[in-house]
Amino acid sequence: MPRKPPTHCSQCKVELTEANSYRRRESSSFRSRCRSCWAQDRRRRHDADETRRRAELNADSEICEICGAIETVTRSGRVRRPSIDHCHRTGVVRGVLCSRCNAGLGMFDDDPARLRVAAAYLERHAATPSSSPADLSMS
Ligand SMILES: [Zn+2]
Ligand SMILES: [Zn+2]
Repeated sequence: MPRKPPTHCSQCKVELTEANSYRRRESSSFRSRCRSCWAQDRRRRHDADETRRRAELNADSEICEICGAIETVTRSGRVRRPSIDHCHRTGVVRGVLCSRCNAGLGMFDDDPARLRVAAAYLERHAATPSSSPADLSMS
């Protein structure tokens, strides 16, 4: 006996429509909650995860483990808390990283081998005397 398909959001009771809800598949029934309740829930879960990770790490550290700087990226006028970095495959907490370093690792697919090669690449080129003195003073 199939359950009656939901017509109202089970959380905020708004009537589910094409505009405010999701269907599992084309032409199937709506999901039991509206989009904003789904989104809220996801945000809440994310925040809870973040709090758990912070506790696991025992971190009040606001200092990035890679660059040693405090977070400077701001969102809506306030400096963001540094991310609690975690392994995306295992969910294991790794450490405190600023947004820039965190994004940087992401760009390298969190691959230590590639990061080492990248570091070596930079060192190799840094060791080459630059023909332009302006370049040297930049760094
Ligand atoms: Zn809702
Ligand atoms: Zn950093």
